[in-house]
Amino acid sequence: MQKDAAVYDQNNIFARILRGELPSHKVYEDADTVAFMDIMPQSDGHVLVLPREPAAELFELSEGAAAAAIRTTQRIARAVRHAFAPDGVSIGQFNGAAAGQTVPHVHFHIVPRYADRALRGHASEPQQPDVLREHAERIQAALRELGLA
Ligand code: 5GP
Repeated sequence: MQKDAAVYDQNNIFARILRGELPSHKVYEDADTVAFMDIMPQSDGHVLVLPREPAAELFELSEGAAAAAIRTTQRIARAVRHAFAPDGVSIGQFNGAAAGQTVPHVHFHIVPRYADRALRGHASEPQQPDVLREHAERIQAALRELGLA
């Protein structure tokens, strides 16, 4: 049986960031997408990429917005890899609480992986704002160096 579409909460935390009502450490934006630092990063350089289109889960997103989101995810992942030189990069996207989704606006996680460091818990340890700012600046510099800004 097909599941009903998830109802979009206009006041979820990412909707409020997209409307500029709440701050974020932004690394990139264009007409269709926004990327900012995860406030509780699982590793240094953890970025979230969001389509601007309001959709709780991937299933409700238009194909155009999905394409824009994955284009930006690839672009930011390249910059994160350039800035942090991790051993690997995980890219993830969760749909529904049972899958681990905690904020009901579609987003992609870009998580640098370091062979000698365990991941921090999901959405569990807030990072200092000055550290997030410095990491965002490193990624923005990498975007410029790679000609992706
Ligand atoms: P989800 O669990 O929905 O896949 O991921 C939501 C992510 O958003 C988590 O990794 C969490 O740390 C992050 N997050 C939660 N609240 C905020 C916030 O207010 N600002 C930012 N930048 N990230 C947030």
